[in-house]
Amino acid sequence: MGKEILIYEKEPDALKFLKAFFKGRKEYTPHFINDEVSLMSELKLKKPSALIVGMTAGIREIKTSHRGCPVIAVVSGNVRRGLAKVTRNGIDSYILHPFYEKDLELKLKNAISEWNMIEHFTKEKKELETIIDLTYLVSSTLDPREILYLIVKKIADLIHVTRCSIIRIDGKERYAHVVATFEDPLIRDMKLDLRKYPEIKKALTSKRPVIIEDIKTDPIMYKVRDALFPLGIRSILVIPIIFREEVIGTLFLRTAKSSNAFTDGEIKLCNAIANASANALHNAFLFEKIVGEKRKLEKLAITDFLTGIYNIRYFYHRLGEEFSRSQRYNVALSCIMFDIDYFKKINDTYGHRVGDMVLREFAQFVRRHTRKSDVFARYGGEEFILLLPQTPLIGAIAEAERLRRALKEYNFKALNEEKGITVSIGIALCPDEEIKTQDDLISCADSALFTAKNKGRDQTIIHSTVRNSLHLQSISC
Ligand code: GH3
Ligand code: MG
Ligand code: MG
Repeated sequence: MGKEILIYEKEPDALKFLKAFFKGRKEYTPHFINDEVSLMSELKLKKPSALIVGMTAGIREIKTSHRGCPVIAVVSGNVRRGLAKVTRNGIDSYILHPFYEKDLELKLKNAISEWNMIEHFTKEKKELETIIDLTYLVSSTLDPREILYLIVKKIADLIHVTRCSIIRIDGKERYAHVVATFEDPLIRDMKLDLRKYPEIKKALTSKRPVIIEDIKTDPIMYKVRDALFPLGIRSILVIPIIFREEVIGTLFLRTAKSSNAFTDGEIKLCNAIANASANALHNAFLFEKIVGEKRKLEKLAITDFLTGIYNIRYFYHRLGEEFSRSQRYNVALSCIMFDIDYFKKINDTYGHRVGDMVLREFAQFVRRHTRKSDVFARYGGEEFILLLPQTPLIGAIAEAERLRRALKEYNFKALNEEKGITVSIGIALCPDEEIKTQDDLISCADSALFTAKNKGRDQTIIHSTVRNSLHLQSISC
């Protein structure tokens, strides 16, 4: 099939000439159009090599941006008016009445080759600009993840693909990670099971680009093609991203087109982009590692090693904040102190190691059964402390009693599902005339706990000033 040429002409003489011209010329496939609406849709659909249009046939309607191909005008009738129209509309070339086949032949050929040349250079210019942009981007101070997203976005702007991602490869792991994908800027760490991506695996071992022209016929895709087909994917391009001779990732492009989906130029461009991206991907890797390590260290610094709950240092830090908030805004702040009853006996009976496991189970149980906004920490040994911001007495009592009863019923795995752990609990809260500092809050809870022990354990006692003002003795039995 020859180059497709659209023709929109109504003037009978010109039309006759054009029909005769295209007859027998195999290098062209002419399409004669009769109305403007079909012309516009055919221009979009066919993407012809050229458009020939009569000056009397509605040329005004064809805006430059709509053409997508060179336009040759046919000027019949008033030449002066016709040429003025040609200039006004920025038309590439024209033929005048009387028409000569040689004239049209030359003009058509020139217009098409000039157009192709311009297109080629425009594309090349855009690609060069992209590489320059990327070089700046990669050395910028942006978040490395942001850089990776901008890279895939740039590729998708240049190459028509259905999906375009950057995959991070982590040594010899079974999984790879999608670190940026142009379809969704928020996807930042999707796991890929490499067993389902033979094309990526091939790029990793060969360290060379892998082009799957058609998943239907490429033998390496035979196991996975049924899963890919419904996603509308036919061709795949995988370009390894190499940093210090090691494949640290890949560009991963997929498209619905099946033949010649990726041109040599596009593959070359992707290679250049992959080279430029290597640093960014490596940095993103390091950045993530550092952020992860930092988070781990931060967590370690506030965690009690044995029980996995907050340590007392973090508790004091939060107590400081919550106490001053309570003073400033006059909101209730409750503090509950727990001490496991006869814990020494557990150690003596089952050994210290089981004792440790009981402490951990105890702490995890209470943490699971308290609100996220409460601060639960190990106070020391077998004593624990719970801070309840914005919680008045009634709420604190309910919480303490709920936990005391639940713990009594709980079967500790470390004790072979045996029941029987009881706790003594002391509660203090502010506002309270005796509590002036945050340390007062803790020592008042501690002294209430001491009373609970003295009164026979397995009970909750509220600090004396509150208890006296409410004429309460003990709340539990
Ligand atoms: P009470 O009812 O009066 O609280 O009796 P108790 O036995 O629980 O209290 P006591 O203060 O006499 O003993 C506390 C025990 O807790 C002694 C100590 O060995 C044990 N303990 C403290 N810290 C740990 C720990 O980290 N692991 C283990 N396994 N035991 C601990
Ligand atoms: Mg104890
Ligand atoms: Mg104790």
